[in-house]
Amino acid sequence: MSEVLNVEEIFASNLFTLGKMKERLPKSVYKEVKKVMDQGGELSLAAADVVAKAMKDWAVEHGATHYTHWFQPLTGITAEKHDAFVTHPDSEGKMIMEFSGKELIKGEPDASSFPSGGLRATFEARGYTAWDITSPAFLKEDATGVILCIPTAFCSYTGEALDKKTPLLRSMEAISQQALRIVRLFGNTEATKVVASVGPEQEYFLVDREKYLKREDLIFAGRTLFGAPAPKGQELEDHYFGTIRERIGAYMKDLNIELWKLGVTAKTQHNEVAPAQHELAPIYETANIAVDHNQLVMETMKKVAGRHGLTCLLHEKPFAGVNGSGKHNNWSLGTDNGVNLLDPGDTPNENIQFLLVLACIMKAVDTHADLLRQSASDVGNDHRLGANEAPPAIISMFLGEQLEDVVRQLVETGEAAHSIQGGKLLTGVSTLPDLDKDATDRNRTSPFAFTGNKFEFRMVGSADSIASPNTILNAIVAEAFCEAADILEKADDFDVAVHDLIKKYMTEHQRIIFNGDGYSDEWVAEAERRGLPNIKSMVEASSTLTTDKAIRLFEKFGIFTRVELESREEILYETYSKTINIEALTMIDMAKKQILPAVVRYTRSLADTVIAVKEAGADASVQAGLLNEVSAKLAEAKKALIDLEEKEEKAVSIENQKELAFFYKDQVRVAMDALRAPCDALEMLVDKEVWPFPTYGDLIFEV
Ligand code: ADP
Ligand code: MG
Repeated sequence: MSEVLNVEEIFASNLFTLGKMKERLPKSVYKEVKKVMDQGGELSLAAADVVAKAMKDWAVEHGATHYTHWFQPLTGITAEKHDAFVTHPDSEGKMIMEFSGKELIKGEPDASSFPSGGLRATFEARGYTAWDITSPAFLKEDATGVILCIPTAFCSYTGEALDKKTPLLRSMEAISQQALRIVRLFGNTEATKVVASVGPEQEYFLVDREKYLKREDLIFAGRTLFGAPAPKGQELEDHYFGTIRERIGAYMKDLNIELWKLGVTAKTQHNEVAPAQHELAPIYETANIAVDHNQLVMETMKKVAGRHGLTCLLHEKPFAGVNGSGKHNNWSLGTDNGVNLLDPGDTPNENIQFLLVLACIMKAVDTHADLLRQSASDVGNDHRLGANEAPPAIISMFLGEQLEDVVRQLVETGEAAHSIQGGKLLTGVSTLPDLDKDATDRNRTSPFAFTGNKFEFRMVGSADSIASPNTILNAIVAEAFCEAADILEKADDFDVAVHDLIKKYMTEHQRIIFNGDGYSDEWVAEAERRGLPNIKSMVEASSTLTTDKAIRLFEKFGIFTRVELESREEILYETYSKTINIEALTMIDMAKKQILPAVVRYTRSLADTVIAVKEAGADASVQAGLLNEVSAKLAEAKKALIDLEEKEEKAVSIENQKELAFFYKDQVRVAMDALRAPCDALEMLVDKEVWPFPTYGDLIFEV
């Protein structure tokens, strides 16, 4: 019998929840905190002192010795600097642990060592972290002990956002304000805000740690840079939803417990399509908390893996030839009085508010398809988007049969008289229940799919923060809502005006709807005919941040300033170049010090064999043939290695960051592929015993 897990007790045990605040704070202070959480504004220093003390007491009771302002710089991961609660001892040498309101509210990490693009050159290096009261503090337990983590935003001395959280929070305010205008038009006077909710499904790979440590590429690049396909891949479709192996199951159990402690609602777990690939999905939450929690999910996945002798790979494409990993970002909007703006109801044709929201989202996604594409770009994701697997790099929207039909009616006739209904699904077995059927089937190939009461943005990379995609979604939809509200608030006859506007938006933006196979070549051609952008790489996507259209949007809603956008574009180029540079250097190292020497030794033993066999008077043509084949590939590899080294040398002389990023994409990456090909061919030719590191078969089938 396994021990009984008390999940209710475990859940949020390491989280300083609202409930705990209510218990531990004087009523007046609690009220103040709640008000700031709900309505914004600033906590008084006196109140902050009381909160800080309660927070510290709770943390210390749970073994905490330090606190940290936990933030999300533009590296895409999180940052923390620990400070002990230790204070100066009194004259008798007694020390009392303390934590003040000031320390809770504001921190001052040195900003100069975090990516800041142009911002660092223009402004001071000083950076501040500011407590995000909307995301609860939590305790992190690891070898360092127990650390009280306070979620914070990170800004420069002059107020520029240096992180991912600040713009996200700004975008949440923008969408809330604009969406409120929309629901007011339909008579909702109770709602005081509209909240963007997000549920990210996280994919990941697990490999054996011992084997991982034998591969420099996994250690330095997080993905394999060499590797011939194993005899078996994912073609039998036997891994997806397959029985979870014991070792992996033990990992998942541990992971869930750690996440539950932190108040992360880890809900769904299953094996994914590729061998050694898995998924975890939490229940959706407010965008801001979902983003924080997704960071914790990624971090905890890695930490727990170590305890099981495993390594968790979050890279978007750790292994060529099998599926990569992404993150389905489920996104929706709800009022604080319980209305999901994306819920069509049973008869969407009659739900005018829903149709207006849908029309606005169509407009937003079509107008800013480039920005949405950019928000899902990272170096690793270039191996997925637009490459030979899910999803395509072209943004389109999938609405499903029912909604597509309603849109068609509206566009063609201006009226939507009916909605296709789901009906019953007959199982044909008398002992099985007949199931209520959704009005719409699923489409797995669309990058932006309507799934009942939310959109599922499927492009995001598995290693990336989900802050940017949600910032962009909130921003572009806020703009569309704003434009619609500007028109409708002034309308003499609201019913006529809203009807006309829905028809207008849907007609103008119907090209963004695509319900077919997003992976097909026909779609690429069709999308081009429709004039939809097909941005093939992260490098090409980066400049979408600073178009006039983008700057106008972000400045209008106070989400990014022009300077912030320019600095972000710069950082994207730098990140790209640095990442590819690391990959190229790792390849050079592995080829030079591991692959080529191993193959040279192998040719030597083959040559010895040829001579020995000949001397013995037998036919050595097979051995000689193999020797020739291996030698030819070896020569090809050596040539490609020299070429890659030359390209790397050339890169050093390029100073312009954008030019450099394009050089890495167009020259270095091509040279990397050219080196990989003969090396992978050699792996298939030589004796397994001589191959210097674990193969794909070892890595993904023997976990
Ligand atoms: P599937 O893989 O079938 O798409 P999952 O159960 O793996 O479904 O994930 C669906 C995700 O969508 C979950 O994280 C779920 O909480 C989230 N979700 C459900 N409703 C909403 C909503 N209104 N807003 C945002 N996310 C939602
Ligand atoms: Mg899923």
